[in-house]
Amino acid sequence: MPEMTNRVALVTGAASGIGLATAVALAREGAAVALLSRPDDDLTTAQQRVQAHGGRVLAIGADVGDSAAVRAAFDRVESELGPIDAVHNNAGISIVAPLTETTDELLDTLVRTNLAGSFYVLREAARGMQARRRGGAIVNTASELALIGQAGYVAYTATKGAILAMTRSAAAELASWGIRVNAVCPGTTKTPMFLAEFDGVADPEAELADNAASVAMRRIAEPAEIGEAVVFLLSHRASYITGTHLIADGGRTTCVPAGSIGVSAH
Ligand code: NAD
Repeated sequence: MPEMTNRVALVTGAASGIGLATAVALAREGAAVALLSRPDDDLTTAQQRVQAHGGRVLAIGADVGDSAAVRAAFDRVESELGPIDAVHNNAGISIVAPLTETTDELLDTLVRTNLAGSFYVLREAARGMQARRRGGAIVNTASELALIGQAGYVAYTATKGAILAMTRSAAAELASWGIRVNAVCPGTTKTPMFLAEFDGVADPEAELADNAASVAMRRIAEPAEIGEAVVFLLSHRASYITGTHLIADGGRTTCVPAGSIGVSAH
């Protein structure tokens, strides 16, 4: 039987990239899936892509940085698809700027979306799961940049490090309710967000190649590869895993690429 049969899942940031890939994988595994993304995102196309893999799919435009909108979205999913027992808390943005050029406005935007937004979704997921007393699973999207530093990402990494801290405390608090909370730490992944970071650089192809060369596996991830890691953490196959993070980064944060030192790459 598919892994997520009879489960109702909600994915935030589901209009593109990693969220859309997770939603597709969840639908393929038999879940009914709610797609939540910004109101101006192309949710119609996303819904069609997920629906092609079967099951019921509901699309809702909402800003995760608006707690009332998040609550209303959860209520709507519960009334139209049923009780939510799997959540991929994934919506996020990246802003690349030197520390001294990161304005209060940029910081507020990042914190509102990545940190407050993730908190609101986590809180709403916990409320519903606690009320029904049937357990559940939540995966928060952090980043490899919650684990290593990178120039230009001081504010972004602050929000992603906070997501890991939040994941551990929520897991501690919710374990007795049978609710598991974990995080995924994607490495560089071919999504609109990542590719947009190369806008304006002189030679995007060369920059992308440099980026791939810093990964032990020498390539950038496909969104589906991150989606599979998320579905694993949401599934019953991860039944004894909580309060931790799964790094899906091709070895970037843990391995020196072969050839840098030691034996050569082949
Ligand atoms: P993406 O831009 O393709 O997808 C993000 C989605 O979230 C978009 O559909 C966007 O409209 C939506 N979104 C943004 N702000 C929102 C808001 N306030 N409310 C609702 N929806 C909102 O980017 P992605 O690369 O798939 O990013 C998904 C997550 O993965 C993010 O949290 C990001 O920080 C994280 N991440 C990405 C990479 C990467 O290399 N792509 C690496 C590590 C972590």
